[in-house]
Amino acid sequence: MQLSIKQQLLTQNDCYREGRPLKPQGVMVHSTGVAQPNPQVFLRSWNKPGVEKCVHAFVSREGVIQTLPWTTRAWHAGTGTTGRSANNTHLSFECCEPPGHTYQGGTMVGYDPKANEGYFQDIYQNTVALTAMLCRQFQLDPLKPGVVICHREGYDLGIASGHADVLHWWPKHNVTMDQFRRDVAQAMVQGGTDEEDEDMTQERFNELMEQYLAQRAKLTPASWSAQARTWAEQSGLVAGGAQGARYGSFATREELVQMLSRLEGILATDKTK
Ligand SMILES: [Zn+2]
Repeated sequence: MQLSIKQQLLTQNDCYREGRPLKPQGVMVHSTGVAQPNPQVFLRSWNKPGVEKCVHAFVSREGVIQTLPWTTRAWHAGTGTTGRSANNTHLSFECCEPPGHTYQGGTMVGYDPKANEGYFQDIYQNTVALTAMLCRQFQLDPLKPGVVICHREGYDLGIASGHADVLHWWPKHNVTMDQFRRDVAQAMVQGGTDEEDEDMTQERFNELMEQYLAQRAKLTPASWSAQARTWAEQSGLVAGGAQGARYGSFATREELVQMLSRLEGILATDKTK
């Protein structure tokens, strides 16, 4: 089944605006704790200042809505005094729960597993596909301890605030987190090669381009240009040293005019000598 991922970033949320970087080292699965299958309801109420939480995505029956860049730190493991360290390490998403039940102190009341089996399977398949995609993208091993976990497991590990999701829900459908991790690992193997291009987003492309440019900047220049480089550095046309001059990099038009302007200054000084 093809996973649909749409982007609807929560640009008005304080967490998005804070924009602290995240280097994903794991994935934490959450559920909203409300009988509300429509992710837009959450997006509307979270896309404003003063909301003390934010996640990377919402999973509904229809697919995934990405709400934060994958490399931005989220507020899913608590904030303020209840904030725990999983915010610094884990990607996070909320699974939308079906309608029809209520809560009493963290326990689902009036939840009918049989009637909701179809709904749950759709959510589960989307959750497996999303987690597999993220594990591939960030080279995470879902079977390694602490990598792919739910909020409750994060609490038990001391890295997330005190919530029960998704262990208050998924076991009603006979799914354990160990089963989930195995399913994610299997989905990674199955979808490995042919989904490669579909995982490519503008964000991911930019990230790779930045890496490529940084690599190019570190290239050691060849000996044939030694004389020209010495002249350019001594005359101040480029910043000194191989590091400063970034000889392997491309020059932007901005850098080009800057160099031409410096050259004009050098030539003018030469004339007055
Ligand atoms: Zn949670």
